[in-house]
Amino acid sequence: MSKIDSQTVIVLTGLMGGLMSLVLYSLKRNYPASIQGLGHWSLGLLLLFLAGLLIAGRGTLPDIITISVSNFLLWSGVYVSYAGSQQFFGVKSRAWPWMALITAALLLSLWYSMVTPSYIIRLACFTSLMAVLFAVHAWLIFRQGAFTFAKALTAAVLLAMTGIQLMRLATFTVAPPQNGITDTSVYQVIYVTSFAFATLLMSIGLVLMATDRLRAELEHLATHDSLTNALTRRHMDQACHMELERSRRTGRSTAMLMMDLDHFKAVNDTYGHQAGDQVLVNFVIKVNALLRPSDLLGRFGGEEFIALLPETKLEEAMVVAQRIRAVCAGGAETVKGATCSVSVGVASTLDERDTVDALLARADAAVYRAKANGRNRVETG
Ligand code: GH3
Ligand code: MG
Ligand code: MG
Repeated sequence: MSKIDSQTVIVLTGLMGGLMSLVLYSLKRNYPASIQGLGHWSLGLLLLFLAGLLIAGRGTLPDIITISVSNFLLWSGVYVSYAGSQQFFGVKSRAWPWMALITAALLLSLWYSMVTPSYIIRLACFTSLMAVLFAVHAWLIFRQGAFTFAKALTAAVLLAMTGIQLMRLATFTVAPPQNGITDTSVYQVIYVTSFAFATLLMSIGLVLMATDRLRAELEHLATHDSLTNALTRRHMDQACHMELERSRRTGRSTAMLMMDLDHFKAVNDTYGHQAGDQVLVNFVIKVNALLRPSDLLGRFGGEEFIALLPETKLEEAMVVAQRIRAVCAGGAETVKGATCSVSVGVASTLDERDTVDALLARADAAVYRAKANGRNRVETG
């Protein structure tokens, strides 16, 4: 173990950080701008790389650069990665308290290397700040919940790094550290090699987190209407088939609402297409607020929407439909004075042989009747 040369490991870790920085930078270039934080993650690893370069110069470059400046770059790199995760998760926070803390640590490091040299105080200062930075980063990811492999991996690595920093502080009493990176104690070896693995695993964790986010965004794009954010017709079609299959097994009825805005063409003609678009957006917001979380709302086309109400009887669906009708008739989705009522057709499964097409046809016929009977009405099929 003691044959491992700490300086070489640290320099190699820096190089690996540099390569991973490039990987994250290429993700930043290619991923949608909505995925934030990639630039900071890339910069954080670049700072680690630069710190590695300075440490490689130990013995050649002045100590102030290879010790204090490289520590400063390491702290900054670890902090900037944390700031990247804050951006990624949309958590707002101020940078200046952290920058002030890092600057204070730099001043301490300079004092204890030039004025009253003390390796142990410098090391205590270095490890304490690293532990804090790793811990807050781990806590940030942990707070987000919904643990995917990527988040669990990143949080676990950060937690392990916090633990290792604390271990290093704790071992000061049992094994007082030797001078700097020439220290060959087992603790120093564990410390530097764990840092190498952590850099690699954490970079992988960050890449996976970004990829998970990209997949979620693409899935959302594929299943949601871009204007109203209601589900697409194709997704609704699949969902209806799955739900009917389930209702066959459970024996519970499924209900469907078909909704068509009344005289919507007149809204466009009077107030303009943009106002019409806004009426559609508001309609979806209002309806979603009236539905249960398990209900699905989709855009069937133009100004027609369908809602799928699992495990719902016809009478219950009628109540929901009446609420939707009442909200729209009350002008709740008014835009620039544009009001638009809605006609709703309600249908529910009759028996286990009922099909999606039959259900849709009955709901459609009911809308047709609602229109014929004067609009702003609910009819059943
Ligand atoms: P009815 O009460 O019989 O349903 O009358 P209507 O005017 O609502 O029905 P019609 O089918 O005649 O017109 C539907 C209009 O919806 C025509 C079309 O321009 C408009 N429309 C469809 N999609 C959109 C959209 O995405 N945005 C806007 N602003 N208008 C749309
Ligand atoms: Mg229509
Ligand atoms: Mg219409």
